[in-house]
Amino acid sequence: MNDFIEIIEKIQRHQRIDTQEAGRLMAEADLLTLGHLANARRRHLHPEPVVTYVIDRNINYTNICLSGCRFCAFFKAPGQDGGYVITREELAEKIQETLDLGGTQILLQGGMHPDLDLAFYKDMLQFIKNRFGIHIHGFSPPEIHFMAEKSNLSVSDTIQRLKQAGLDSIPGGGARFCATTSVPKFPPINAVQMNGWR
Ligand code: SF4
Repeated sequence: MNDFIEIIEKIQRHQRIDTQEAGRLMAEADLLTLGHLANARRRHLHPEPVVTYVIDRNINYTNICLSGCRFCAFFKAPGQDGGYVITREELAEKIQETLDLGGTQILLQGGMHPDLDLAFYKDMLQFIKNRFGIHIHGFSPPEIHFMAEKSNLSVSDTIQRLKQAGLDSIPGGGARFCATTSVPKFPPINAVQMNGWR
């Protein structure tokens, strides 16, 4: 227990904790303690009392996904009724509606569609950037990992190509990496292994 308190004190002294200490906190600290420590860290890094936000819209460009995460009520398996890929017209309409309401960003998120290749994603980004002045936040890490594997590219090269086509930033949502040493209780088929995100 003492070394557990020492970990907390180390954070309160604004010292960096190592992987083992972080793991111990995750396993043993209650949620309120974790929240308190995270907030103290945030205030230390950003003491000015300013919180910013953007007005954005989630656009799901496809719901077809090979992954089959057991918790997901959004996806349709390839060939299943209700699967879609939105058209360019639908995409443009959704972005225009966002801009008309004062939005400045869209979040593009879909599934791991077996028939969409990197060219599709680059075309979609270029289409948006050529027509709209809007920040594109997009693609979960598993989507990018999937694109990289399909294109025989590294994750870093894939991100580079997406950025060149217009991608501005990537969300953290969906970053469910599986440590290679642990077996998740409800594993998605396509969770990214730790050594796969390079
Ligand atoms: S990868 Fe995303 S869209 Fe696909 S099944 Fe999992 S949560 Fe759903």
